Amino acid sequence: VKYILVCGGVISGIGKGVIASSTGLILKAAGLKVTAIKIDPYMNIDAGTMAPTEHGEVYVLNDGGETDLDLGNYERYLDVSLNKDNNITTGKVYQHVIDRERKGDYLGKTVQIIPHLTNAIQDWIERVSKIPVDGSGEEPDVCVVELGGTVGDIESMPFVEALRQFQFRVGHENFALIYVSLIPVVGGEQKTKPTQAGVRDLRGLGLLPDLIACRCTDTLLTATMEKVSMFCHVSPQQVLGVHNVNSTYHVPLLLQEQGMLNYFKKRLNLGDITIKPQFK
Ligand code: ADP
Repeated sequence: VKYILVCGGVISGIGKGVIASSTGLILKAAGLKVTAIKIDPYMNIDAGTMAPTEHGEVYVLNDGGETDLDLGNYERYLDVSLNKDNNITTGKVYQHVIDRERKGDYLGKTVQIIPHLTNAIQDWIERVSKIPVDGSGEEPDVCVVELGGTVGDIESMPFVEALRQFQFRVGHENFALIYVSLIPVVGGEQKTKPTQAGVRDLRGLGLLPDLIACRCTDTLLTATMEKVSMFCHVSPQQVLGVHNVNSTYHVPLLLQEQGMLNYFKKRLNLGDITIKPQFK
């Protein structure tokens, strides 16, 4: 399984979920089997007890799992049926490690965030990414992992560290990262500084952006994209503009027009695949 991590900085709610789903859809349209995992770095076991006024509607999966609405995005964009383990929360993973500790699985050891919790996160991602989700009974080719919140928050640190280690567990050609950032428009000018600071934080934590998806109210100017490339140490091809659209179902097209599939083909060694005619 190849892994594409979608995480973000600056502020939450800028469209990581939509970009994660859209990325999955592009790969699915090229004939790959795609699954998805959402990581929510809160202490709740699931979204079932959280106020919809704050978090949006609770999305209920076929197995009764009560989850974040993003899981609904994945199911609709990718035409898959996910289960409750496709949503990892801080609460769930701590509960898992504490249950194992009580059973005596770590007897004699001091149970710690690193390595016990971070290993549990990696094992969880690896196990769930292999579960067939499209009814074919076959293992997925690609797993999109979306990390909620913003990189740098205390809450998401164990997950960031687990994913940093995970890139070595699965190997460079099996792990890529999309960093979703915000380009605010101030006084008519598209500002890249928050993105520069966010990418610096990301790199400081040992994760490197393969693609930087820049969310902006307006179409991103070439000069802005060049600036992001220059100051974030990526090639211009690795900067994607995602401006506001009327329907989020336009986002896959926006990403594909900017060469997303070609990029991942090379980066993840996906072989000679193209978008299937029925998706054109
Ligand atoms: P996050 O996962 O970062 O919290 P979401 O993907 O849930 O963000 O998106 C937050 C909101 O922004 C959603 O209501 C979504 O429909 C909207 N949105 C995301 N991308 C776009 C876009 N390109 N244009 C317009 N609205 C968008």
